[in-house]
Amino acid sequence: MFRREFIALGLALPLAARSISASTPATTWFPKEFDCPVCETKNTYMVVGSYGSYIYSWPSKYQLIYWPVTVGNTFYLCKKCHLSVFMWDHDDLPKYKIPAMKKTLSGVTVEKKFEEYTEVPVFKRLEIVEKVYGHLDKDDAFWNFFYRIKGYHFQDVEDMESASAARKKALEIVTKMIAAKDDSVAAKELWAISGAMKHFTMQDKAALEDLNKAMTVKYDGPDLTEEEKSIGETNINSFLVDYINRINGANPPRDSDQ
Ligand SMILES: [Zn+2]
Repeated sequence: MFRREFIALGLALPLAARSISASTPATTWFPKEFDCPVCETKNTYMVVGSYGSYIYSWPSKYQLIYWPVTVGNTFYLCKKCHLSVFMWDHDDLPKYKIPAMKKTLSGVTVEKKFEEYTEVPVFKRLEIVEKVYGHLDKDDAFWNFFYRIKGYHFQDVEDMESASAARKKALEIVTKMIAAKDDSVAAKELWAISGAMKHFTMQDKAALEDLNKAMTVKYDGPDLTEEEKSIGETNINSFLVDYINRINGANPPRDSDQ
């Protein structure tokens, strides 16, 4: 369930679900043992226990990414071979890709020995994820999502230069997707992502143009029902209006907690 949902759909959720505002509701995790698909070492990783649709109202929405990709638990790292993957891909790696991954991982080092994978900084794990997924024939929608996540985690450790470089990469990919009329993500969302990445890379005039453009594009996609289209249209437009107001206001998303 995670994959599609966390790439783009957060924006289009029903209004009712999105307006729930509890006081810092809890997400929960629990440890689970896994066998590494590359080296067969047993690792203990965290898996999701519970969460709610409140995650879609958290400030990372302004980068169009949502919990759990905003937290380190999500990026598994094998203590032996250093395989690093999104948690939902761990048990699904294509077997025929393993030898190539093994070769890539043989060149990967992690500064110090660790007990818990979460001790290794997320941005470091993402560097390995990037190498591993280079073997997985991922499309532009994935890489666009990936670089937005990378930007988020670099900002988290206050490496703003690397955050900006990652976001510029995301922007480059989304620009290409818009030009190619790539419908793996709805065009309305692509314009929203483009606006967001421009805002986060200090290009507010262009960001506002893209967010306004997104307002004029109908929410559409090959797998959507009429009801989903209508709900998506309403929700994305209200997100866009809020975003535009925030950029024009005293407290733009870029300068706020993410
Ligand atoms: Zn391993």
